[in-house]
Amino acid sequence: MSVKTTCPYCGVGCGVVARKGADGTVSVEGDKEHPANFGRLCSKGSALAETIDLDGRLLEPMVNGAPATWDDALDIVADGFAKVIREHGPDAVAFYVSGQLLTEDYYVVNKLSKGFVGTANIDTNSRLCMASSVVGHKRAFGSDTVPGCYEDLEQADLLVFVGSNAAWCHPILHQRMLAAKEKNPNCKIVVIDPRRTATCEGADLHLSLRAGSDTVLFNGLLAYLAGNNVIDREFVGSSTTGVADALAEVAGQTVARTAAICGLTEGTVSLFFDWFAKTERVVTLYSQGVNQSTSGVDKVNSIINCHLLTGRIGRPGMGPFSLTGQPNAMGGREVGGLANQLAAHMELEKAEHRDIVQRFWRAPVMADKGGLKAVDMFDAVAAGKVKAIWIMSTNPVVSLPDADRVRAALEACELVVVSDCMRSTDTTRHAHVLLPALAWGEKDGTVTNSERRISRQRSFLPAPGEARADWRIICDVASRMGYAGFDYAGVADVFREHADLSGFENAGKRDFDISAMAGLDDSAYEAMAPVQWPVTAAQPLGTARMFQTNEFFTPDRKARFIPIVPRPARNPTSREYRLVLNTGRVRDQWHTMTRTGKTARLLSHIFEPYAEFHPEDARLAGVKQDGLALLTSAWGKMVARVVVTAEQKRGCVFVPMHWNEEFAGEGRVNALVNPAVDPLSGQPESKHTPIKADPYKPKWQAFILSRNEIKRPDSGYWVHGKAGDCWRLEVTGNERPESWRDWARAQLGLDGVEIEWIAYRDPTAGRFRYAAVRDGRLEGCVFIAPNHTLPSRAWLIGLFAEQELSANARMSLLAGKPFGDGEDKGAIVCSCFSIGRNQITAEIKKGSDSVEAIGRCLKAGTNCGGCKPELNKLIAATAPMRQAIAS
Ligand code: SF4
Repeated sequence: MSVKTTCPYCGVGCGVVARKGADGTVSVEGDKEHPANFGRLCSKGSALAETIDLDGRLLEPMVNGAPATWDDALDIVADGFAKVIREHGPDAVAFYVSGQLLTEDYYVVNKLSKGFVGTANIDTNSRLCMASSVVGHKRAFGSDTVPGCYEDLEQADLLVFVGSNAAWCHPILHQRMLAAKEKNPNCKIVVIDPRRTATCEGADLHLSLRAGSDTVLFNGLLAYLAGNNVIDREFVGSSTTGVADALAEVAGQTVARTAAICGLTEGTVSLFFDWFAKTERVVTLYSQGVNQSTSGVDKVNSIINCHLLTGRIGRPGMGPFSLTGQPNAMGGREVGGLANQLAAHMELEKAEHRDIVQRFWRAPVMADKGGLKAVDMFDAVAAGKVKAIWIMSTNPVVSLPDADRVRAALEACELVVVSDCMRSTDTTRHAHVLLPALAWGEKDGTVTNSERRISRQRSFLPAPGEARADWRIICDVASRMGYAGFDYAGVADVFREHADLSGFENAGKRDFDISAMAGLDDSAYEAMAPVQWPVTAAQPLGTARMFQTNEFFTPDRKARFIPIVPRPARNPTSREYRLVLNTGRVRDQWHTMTRTGKTARLLSHIFEPYAEFHPEDARLAGVKQDGLALLTSAWGKMVARVVVTAEQKRGCVFVPMHWNEEFAGEGRVNALVNPAVDPLSGQPESKHTPIKADPYKPKWQAFILSRNEIKRPDSGYWVHGKAGDCWRLEVTGNERPESWRDWARAQLGLDGVEIEWIAYRDPTAGRFRYAAVRDGRLEGCVFIAPNHTLPSRAWLIGLFAEQELSANARMSLLAGKPFGDGEDKGAIVCSCFSIGRNQITAEIKKGSDSVEAIGRCLKAGTNCGGCKPELNKLIAATAPMRQAIAS
């Protein structure tokens, strides 16, 4: 059996074909017919089949930690919410939902909150992802419209990435652009990012600007375009308003001044401005580096201003393009999942829109003011103003800024309900009621990707245990609360209502209109092909590109220039906190790792949370490559492994956002992140928190590899996860056990088991090595040292694949290093084929001097292609060495 569905990770929205064998095994491959990916999947998408087991799943409702029936759990939720509303009013309850929800789930929870409970206290983790783009779009276009499509990215002659590491965060789309560039010798790529990211590999120009100076750069570009008469006067005159004010704001801003403020050379700025000015087909792509800022909305509008001045919008190969992080951030926007939106892209503040939605829903009430946005919502929980909160498919204790405060808020809340597919997360631990939800592969509905393309997520697995669809759970609670209008026959029924509302009293006034799909019967919904909205009677096959007629959704149908006054960061650095913390993603993990953290393959690329320092900052802080650093801000602290690289901007530290208490102790970066938000969008500033860094020096460090799952420590820095055929624990401590041997045996879970010990002890140096062998096979090993100088994990993990340890391997275990070339493959670079750094550099030294040549010899880079930027980097670093050896 094979089923076409959609990847549940990033906003690229790749099509997936899932195949289920007669024995129940599942395999996945890219859907060759899906217009987002044409058959390709990145490392995360390729590993989807490895993440669908039921390990760790929440399979039954739980109340106060004990199993409960669905009837009891739903009654407790409905009665609890009804009681709080009765006693304290509708604004005393809140819903915190997720871009992981399907559009149908999103639609019904938004309807319940705004139209029946009567509160707009519903917000989504998409607030952390693209809320600034939503406001920027609305200010400029009068609607939250992404103008272009993926084909525009292939047709452009200049691609400008701003605050976007698309090579890691939107890999398949990035590879589409690189492939188009290869065919188009005129195409150039510019990356604007303080950090030299993987996206810089293959770029023609990198602007390593000062963190947060994007508005200055784009204001400078606007001034340059105006000064050089690069203005589409007809478009600006007939289709826009406000140009004079926007230009007045940037008057006199020279290249020199722009360069000085942005921390760039004049030459670099001039070159970028010149390319932008001379290239008609320009797409400016932006992502979290723009959105996650206290100036996020202004950054978006500073970019859009440049496209409006040049009329580069609504035509092939050009336009501003917001890359959404989440798989259904766009679907959430369509149903009004944010606290300041109404359904179908209508406005909460507009009485006319409230009236339309209320009449359509036959709703008893309608929220008439914006609700609490994500950060404010948890502040209100902490203050006791919100007394009941329902969190769906998201992990705010990990992902929200000032995350320890979020945890404390939930601990103090009267009623915390969490619907999730996983039993144990940093957030589910604080739930009074846990409701088991369906996961990817089991649930059914639609999602919308970054180019407005609606695709079906289809189920191909049975509902496990007692898990239910989110939309069904929400409707069951709504009905128990006495609300009519939630008796849907099925998920297709929800979609039809959502589509119908989009066209209700619309007549072209609103951008989001999929009314042509309101009449789909169940089988047509089941068979729905990916389609870009709007989908109307006039455009029944969808709409690739918006604003082609130069008409926008403002009252006068004209786009608006917004004058931008650059503002400094809300929390500047100080003598104590002199470094700027910038958070982001890594290539092979997704969000809080609840799914991608299940697979050893994806953990093999980067196992530990890390902090990336510029060499000079590392020197000043006294931290060393591979050592540990204690990072502290005014809000919290964490510990991370140190990476020292000249690719980091001086004064900045990068830390990924994924690790949490399921995978690491002291590894939650959002505990540090300041809760400052953009005043217009409410999106938190995740890219600019002042921090300090100090060496973290426990008395000892160790790692353990074991066939048995290793118990997680209760405190200190540790990292836990799967690794090849074993489990891996990185652990540190300040207390030394009486017997390291007994400690090692206990860690491996081998007390009372007959094993052969291979042991090496050097108490003076504080080094101990233990390996347990059973029936000739390596059962586990423990390596302890006074610091981070421990042997290669990749080599030892490889030994677990061997059925019988060779004499050489036993000697190696004692010596703590592999004997013989090629034994240690090094840190994994290509996770698809498990190819390590040492293997790749050896191949480059032998003469493979291109990604293709490495692919032919090692297969690295030949599946998802996500490691190609790292292969290029290794070639650049190793090739000169090869030449030196040759000469
Ligand atoms: Fe999934 Fe990767 Fe495609 Fe994103 S790029 S949708 S993570 S396969």
